[in-house]
Amino acid sequence: MDNLWKKYAENRAPLEQFCDGYKDFLSTCKTERECIKYAIKRAEQAGYKSLATLMEQGGKLKAGDKVYAVNMNKTIVLVVIGKQPIEQGLNIVGAHIDSPRIDLKATPIYESTGFCLFDTHYYGGIKKYQWTALPLALHGVVIKKDGSNIELSIGEEPSDTVFGISDLLPHLDRKPESKLKDVAGEDLNVLVGTIEDGKAEKEKIKSNILNILKEKGIEADDFFSAEIEMVPAGRARDFGLDRSMVMGYGQDDRVCAYTALMAALEIEKPERTTMCLLVDKEEIGSVGATGMASQYFENVLAEIMNLAGQYSELALRRAMTRSMMLSSDVTAAVDPNNLAPFNVTTDAHFGMGLSFNKYNGSGGKSGSNDANPEFIGKLRAIMDEAGVQYQATEMGKVDEGGGGTIAYLMAKYGMDVIDAGVPVLNMHAPWEITSKADIYEAYRGYKAFYASKK
Ligand code: MN
Ligand code: MN
Repeated sequence: MDNLWKKYAENRAPLEQFCDGYKDFLSTCKTERECIKYAIKRAEQAGYKSLATLMEQGGKLKAGDKVYAVNMNKTIVLVVIGKQPIEQGLNIVGAHIDSPRIDLKATPIYESTGFCLFDTHYYGGIKKYQWTALPLALHGVVIKKDGSNIELSIGEEPSDTVFGISDLLPHLDRKPESKLKDVAGEDLNVLVGTIEDGKAEKEKIKSNILNILKEKGIEADDFFSAEIEMVPAGRARDFGLDRSMVMGYGQDDRVCAYTALMAALEIEKPERTTMCLLVDKEEIGSVGATGMASQYFENVLAEIMNLAGQYSELALRRAMTRSMMLSSDVTAAVDPNNLAPFNVTTDAHFGMGLSFNKYNGSGGKSGSNDANPEFIGKLRAIMDEAGVQYQATEMGKVDEGGGGTIAYLMAKYGMDVIDAGVPVLNMHAPWEITSKADIYEAYRGYKAFYASKK
């Protein structure tokens, strides 16, 4: 198998154009809610109609119709009705739009040794030391008691102020319990300010910050009904002298979400019904109402089959069982600086294309959805027919690697599922790296999969 750049180096324009859109997406969509807003806008431009509106107006769905549904502003489902009855099954591509980060606690504001700080609780699996001593932006939403909301995004414009978590200088970090190895979760506190409120009796610096928040309509108690995420500040950008890679925050799994979404926007009159699924909470186990483990997926499918005049309990169950799905999530790319945990012959490499993990899990495939060879045979035909390059991979050495995705949750319906995504370097670090060639190939692969008639 050739490195994809042999194919793309000569004619980079389509790939670069696609990745320009991707970098814009990464730079502006750093929370689940921001991703959903973006997806709704793009979906409506592409002719998708709101399922909620259709239900309200008693609308109907027929072959070729495009419809989207949003759950709690953090999950979105985009469906195009196929020519075949829906009970023949769907072609589903599912990715997650939550990424590791630092969340503010419900009562975050406090003062210590001349600083006002935000207390935090990190989200997802992070190497905590990587999140100190770098500029962080504040993104999120505050919901007031009357239901109104205040959206916040501070730190992305060049003229914006930024935040951050301080770290020790090496000179004072020589003890055996050195923080150079890791940082305690309770020590991930965000520095917010140092100026005193002259009129305050006590906690003068905290009081001054509260005054600034008040100007934005936010009281200290409002943080209880807020969702505020501290994320790396700044834009995604090209990486490397040859500009062959992208560096940006949240590429796990927004690289798969973006490629799955862009491919879904181009679907016209498919043979089988298609679904693009962008879900929340994967990084903490797919739990909660907006995670893949919730009933939302099947409820939405039931509503859509109902509007298409095709609903029955049995038809719904058949549709799910006869579906096939790409659980589109990232995998670990072989890292030249850290070869120890990799098997370089069986793991994913940059520039080699869409990466299929037949199974994931760790310790004897434990917890993995081991995809069926019959399904994989079908996928090979789909990818080869479309001229999409792919690699069959694992994630790290046996007994050293492995990981979980949403694949097993969809497999429980009895459908065929396989993990298929883009290899990533620095996964779960503030700045993750991907290959532009793999990004473009993933988009092409998802497009071919949606269109598959099999
Ligand atoms: Mn992931
Ligand atoms: Mn992850």
